[in-house]
Amino acid sequence: MDPRLVAYLFIGVGLAFASTASADTITVDPPTARPGDAVLVTVTGGQEMPKGTENGHALQFFRSKTGYQAVFAIPLDATPEPISIEVNSVALPKLVQIRAVTFPDTNLIVEDELANPAKPDRDRIDADNAAILAAAAKAKGEPLFSSPFRRPPGEVTSVFGEWRTFNDGHRSQHLGLDLFAREGAKVKAVNHGTVVLVRECFLAGNVVVVSHGGGIASAYYHLSQVSVAEGDAVVQGATVGLAGHTGRTTGPHLHISIAVPGGLVDPAGFFKRKLAPALAEITRR
Ligand SMILES: [Zn+2]
Repeated sequence: MDPRLVAYLFIGVGLAFASTASADTITVDPPTARPGDAVLVTVTGGQEMPKGTENGHALQFFRSKTGYQAVFAIPLDATPEPISIEVNSVALPKLVQIRAVTFPDTNLIVEDELANPAKPDRDRIDADNAAILAAAAKAKGEPLFSSPFRRPPGEVTSVFGEWRTFNDGHRSQHLGLDLFAREGAKVKAVNHGTVVLVRECFLAGNVVVVSHGGGIASAYYHLSQVSVAEGDAVVQGATVGLAGHTGRTTGPHLHISIAVPGGLVDPAGFFKRKLAPALAEITRR
């Protein structure tokens, strides 16, 4: 064999070892999650944008201060089987353990037409839900934020995942977090983003949806007044509207929903995830 070829082979092997030595590592937060949790995947050590999957679904990585990050939703109907996180540059998959949860059950009495809507109203509700989901789906692409999300103030009055039984016996699951808010209190954007929906909904009342990029969107329900228009850029802390009790509510409060790739997640846990995108350039507003 040509000695130069042998030398190249050895150099090649050496490089392979070198890259193994500085291999990427995956961390997941939280390591044990509940259905409806947002899970943050961080990959450190690599030079290139990783490609990865969670149970076969593509992860949407973005560059972060420590490497690369992606966030995804544990489905509400997840079984206790662990979820496997695979990243191309890492030899062994990382597992997220799933802990079963029993969401609380409550009875709610609301006006009859809201508890048991007539057919035209049911159609409106379906159209509202489709519009909110379509708006949240616009959050693809690079993150528009670079600092952690900020939880709105207010005591929790209703948790994510709670089952509600209404007057007529039908049940629905609460896919957001309710926070106490006085009528007319300012409702602020939880991070930088773009307003992708302003809509008067049958159940959710006046709704604003903000896309934050990176697959993440926030929605604010039951507003008495809306202060932004679709297409507006908002900074973290900007007023998007005033708290109220429009739609189906038992009193004024802020309902906030958070969407990440894979679905709606518990905002309470989401606000604790340490998302830290590193952006080449943040649009000054
Ligand atoms: Zn709510």
